[in-house]
Amino acid sequence: MAASGIKIQARRASRWGVLFGGLAAAGCVGSSFNLATQEQEYTITSTEKEVEVGRKVARQVMDEMAVVADEPLQRRVREIGQRIAAVCDRRELVYQFAVIADDDVNAFSLPGGYVFLNDGLVKKTANDDELAGVVAHEVAHIAARHAVKRYESSLGLQIVQLASLAARRGAATGGLSVAARAAQLAYARQDELEADRLAVKYLRAAGFDPKAILTFLEKLHDLHGDKAQYLPRGVVRPQYAMTHPFVPERTLAVKEALYGVADYIDYLNSPE
Ligand SMILES: [Zn+2]
Repeated sequence: MAASGIKIQARRASRWGVLFGGLAAAGCVGSSFNLATQEQEYTITSTEKEVEVGRKVARQVMDEMAVVADEPLQRRVREIGQRIAAVCDRRELVYQFAVIADDDVNAFSLPGGYVFLNDGLVKKTANDDELAGVVAHEVAHIAARHAVKRYESSLGLQIVQLASLAARRGAATGGLSVAARAAQLAYARQDELEADRLAVKYLRAAGFDPKAILTFLEKLHDLHGDKAQYLPRGVVRPQYAMTHPFVPERTLAVKEALYGVADYIDYLNSPE
């Protein structure tokens, strides 16, 4: 399956832009064992290429967004982040953590080790454990190579397009900044659930209380009640609940990771 699958994917990729096709044509499609998912995986890029793409987008995000001018808070997030990074399944990366001055409740990660938390989300967390839960979830997306692995999906394409936009500074971005687009990237359902299961593992290993993921997910439930805010041009303001949907299923996945089995009542209440 692997060999023919790669050929098809590489052909498909070549239709999408010079950079993306270039990566495939340059022989960057490789295979490696992913510790996070415990599977042999075929990825479009080497770790080096992944870091390069992620760094381009991350730099642009940092250029466009102000980081919160609160060094104790930045240090707190970095220290929590480094504790998680030290126990995660992909320790060869240099992880970077930053709190962005934005009231939207949102967090996002980029390939190569870049994790961004909005100030609005940080304010919703009650303690270090809840903050660590969000950080661990984002680190898990990176450790499991979710964005890179699904390069044939829209998420992978969007990231490569963002890197391409970031490289052409000043180029038209359809009215939206690279940072705004990066904040709207959404992972697939199975990736969200896997990130939560891995986050439980990382929190335990790093000495945080993994049950904090559940208490934070409860808050997301409340956020779902918020109406999506529409900005000019029909742009939807990204909220964590939008970029990280599937809250009831995520709660189930976390409970299973925590207790081995979820409550029977949760199965009754969960969507199909
Ligand atoms: Zn996620």
